[in-house]
Amino acid sequence: MLTIGEIVEVLSGKLIADHGEDDVVVESVEFDTRKVVSGSLFVPLKGVRDGHEFVPQAIENGAVATLWEAGNANIQPEGIAIIEVADVLQSLQDLAYYFVQKIEPRVVGVTGSNGKTTTKDMLDSVLSQSFKTYKTQGNYNNDIGLPYTILHMPIDTELLVLEMGMNHKDEIRPLSLIAEPELAAITIIGESHIEYLGSRQGIAEAKMEIVVGLAADGELIIPGNEPLLEPLVEDLAQQVVRFGQQGNEDISATIVESSKHSVTFTVSVFPGETFMIPIVGDYNVNNALIAIQAGRYFELSVDQIKIGLANLNLTQSRAEWVKAWNGAEILNDAYNANPTAMSLVLETFSQIDVNEDGKRIAILADMGELGEQSQEMHESMLEAIDFDAIHHIVLYGEWMGYLADKIVTADTLVPLDYFNKEERSELVARLEEIIAPNDLVLFKGSNSMQLSEIIKEISEK
Ligand code: ATP
Ligand code: MG
Repeated sequence: MLTIGEIVEVLSGKLIADHGEDDVVVESVEFDTRKVVSGSLFVPLKGVRDGHEFVPQAIENGAVATLWEAGNANIQPEGIAIIEVADVLQSLQDLAYYFVQKIEPRVVGVTGSNGKTTTKDMLDSVLSQSFKTYKTQGNYNNDIGLPYTILHMPIDTELLVLEMGMNHKDEIRPLSLIAEPELAAITIIGESHIEYLGSRQGIAEAKMEIVVGLAADGELIIPGNEPLLEPLVEDLAQQVVRFGQQGNEDISATIVESSKHSVTFTVSVFPGETFMIPIVGDYNVNNALIAIQAGRYFELSVDQIKIGLANLNLTQSRAEWVKAWNGAEILNDAYNANPTAMSLVLETFSQIDVNEDGKRIAILADMGELGEQSQEMHESMLEAIDFDAIHHIVLYGEWMGYLADKIVTADTLVPLDYFNKEERSELVARLEEIIAPNDLVLFKGSNSMQLSEIIKEISEK
């Protein structure tokens, strides 16, 4: 790993309270004292509270050194190496930059409105067939999470898969500059965080910041048939590869069969081969195409790619089947939501076979962070609902009220229930009435609507 002397030098820091520890090796870099172990370097970030207040706790837990922001008013602790720096967060990022340069793994970066974590897991699953890989843990994809991930990669890492997330413009740029990927991918231009980015155009531009640090001879993988991206890649020096399911992309998939637990498909560039992913949702094939293209880029065999995908191990299941108290099957996709993701999961859900006497019930809750376009985007879900395939609709939350009005006006025969956020218990009671044992039930909505809690209440105990 890194020695204290090395860290001081890299950060142009000032070693205060020198105990002659220049050669001491730092075992890990932590900003949360609960994770500090013997030998850690503590990084006192400013959160709700100033991280400097926690330095004594870090020392108690065994930290050997701490960063210290110049001019910080807290009393400096005794007994460990204190490395004074101008800016603690910047130092964490600088250290990460240095560490990637030192370990020299090959680097893959993935951004996009949806599917980053899923794609990151697929990339790792495929590329680990040929390399010793390390990937973003959980959803650690921001200005703190990405450097943290980097600093935690084992020193024998050959290939690093990094998720890059953002809410605002100029947030992907520094991540790309720290990691300097040779392969970068954009999963989709959707509407997540449109509140802060203004428009889908703004979103496309922000995602394209991933090329800022992309190696000159690297490759960028993007969704095909995305008019917002085409002008932005026109003058790009790097190779651009487009993926999709329409047939005209550089790497294009055709679905063979979709089931509750898997999708099989063929891929244009591998004639005669069939691929399988062990998760529900045709949209996940797009994520898989990125992993397949990465496999080609890193010269894996088609069998390695297939095995990698088939053995996919998701960080956290995004779309997960659980059983209701009465045996009905619930598709829990309640982790987050925006119009693209909601439309796609509705499409997937509508195609899943249901018993003759069973119903498909869709429970849709508010989607957050859509800003000024929120009403319009909730209303637009009218087009995403296949009224021949969905047999009962339950809407939940203030924004979904607008969709409820639209559905009422559309005059469909499909039963509709609406509940506002205060009517949570009424919602649960109603679900217990309408869900029959042979039904398939979809839950989709933003985290803030706490659908997962509701699912827990109606699940098999
Ligand atoms: P976050 O911004 O929270 O980190 P993420 O981009 O990492 O999200 P995932 O966690 O992989 O995304 O997936 C979240 C949801 O996005 C899924 O449950 C699914 O509904 C939807 N989704 C996944 N992949 C795609 C895709 N390729 N296109 C559209 N929607 C997708
Ligand atoms: Mg994620």
